[in-house]
Amino acid sequence: MNIHEYQARDLLAKFNVPVPPGIVVDSPDQAAKAFDDLAKEGATLAVVKAQVHAGGRGKGGGVKLVKSADEAKSAAQAILSKPLITPQTTAQGVTVHKLLVAAGVDIQKEFYLGIATDRAAGNLTLIASTEGGVEIEKVAEQTPEKILREPIDPTAGLQTYQARKVAFLLGFTGKQVSQAAKIMTNLVKLCLATDAGLAEINPLILTPPKQDNPDGQVLAIDAKINFDDSALFRHPDIAQLADPNEQDPDETRANKFGLTYIKLDGNIGCLVNGAGLAMATMDLIKLHGQEPANFLDVGGSASEEAVTEAFRIILADKKIKGVLVNIFGGIAKCDTIANAIVTAAKEVGFTVPLVVRLEGTNVQPARKILEAAKSDIPTMTVASDLTDAAKKSPQQ
Ligand code: GDP
Ligand code: MG
Repeated sequence: MNIHEYQARDLLAKFNVPVPPGIVVDSPDQAAKAFDDLAKEGATLAVVKAQVHAGGRGKGGGVKLVKSADEAKSAAQAILSKPLITPQTTAQGVTVHKLLVAAGVDIQKEFYLGIATDRAAGNLTLIASTEGGVEIEKVAEQTPEKILREPIDPTAGLQTYQARKVAFLLGFTGKQVSQAAKIMTNLVKLCLATDAGLAEINPLILTPPKQDNPDGQVLAIDAKINFDDSALFRHPDIAQLADPNEQDPDETRANKFGLTYIKLDGNIGCLVNGAGLAMATMDLIKLHGQEPANFLDVGGSASEEAVTEAFRIILADKKIKGVLVNIFGGIAKCDTIANAIVTAAKEVGFTVPLVVRLEGTNVQPARKILEAAKSDIPTMTVASDLTDAAKKSPQQ
């Protein structure tokens, strides 16, 4: 589960990671007032930031520095007036509902600091780089030597010596070292306490030296945190941070039935059991020159009701030109799927070609069910194997 930057900043502050103050607003007038409120606390610069679950907002015009309440108002107007398109959104962009007006800071240098799950090592890993602010994926690709990694012991957390080592390697000096090290240790504490699988501060910044603070200050000015969905039951306070505006309504609907559904851009609807098989099915569809319209894993123990709902969701997508069902019955039973196909055909109707490949548990009764329903579902083809199924799916 993802949360907004403003929520991530609140969490960081709770775990004693310094962040500039900010106010969440949803209108240009409120943005102007927020600027005045921050100015009362001493801010001369503010940053108006679109709150959407997508990064790269700066590049898409979703982050604007402002120096007055009037500027804050027009920046807010500009951001709220149209969908925000960033390198991480679709070409249509996303609607901006909320803005964060945060106290702006002078930046001497931007760094990247992140905690990510290292699945191969089975632990969290601290990732840091002097190349902050920009896309870390590009840094990892083009200059991998600029990425520092430090494994995190799941019980002991990040040790002080590890944090200090990374701080030195990033080039921090004097009092900056303990400031940066403390941020790293606290970010790890946050991840362990909340079951976060990814927490990124990009950029972590160093402010220029001032007379009363010659070492400058290390601060987090952007944050992205992602939580393990399977652990949310342990964190009701985090679960309630979910923003339904940011979730695809079909994905929410599918989740209610225990289905894992992700909408994609193609036009071949897929209904598969198991994430691995779903990925392989999508690969095969692409191999045969077509594009999947969705990822849909009905899981092992899906009920007929849930599978019928899955068909309803797939068939509601107007772009669909064909549906490919690929079930390898283990715990999932082929006859459950066959019955759901029959129900969906009655309820919604398959106006597009339907290719069905069933193997495994209860495949014989399933084939009989489909055979009997053949005249009711004229667009259905039963495939002998997966490659056959992919080939039989309609060409675009
Ligand atoms: P993102 O583009 O979605 O990652 O949004 P960020 O919050 O990371 O902002 C993008 C960039 O805007 C940062 O890398 C900074 O260069 C700049 N920026 C954001 N906040 C401030 C600020 O308070 N002061 C200054 N000078 N620049 C800022
Ligand atoms: Mg950023």
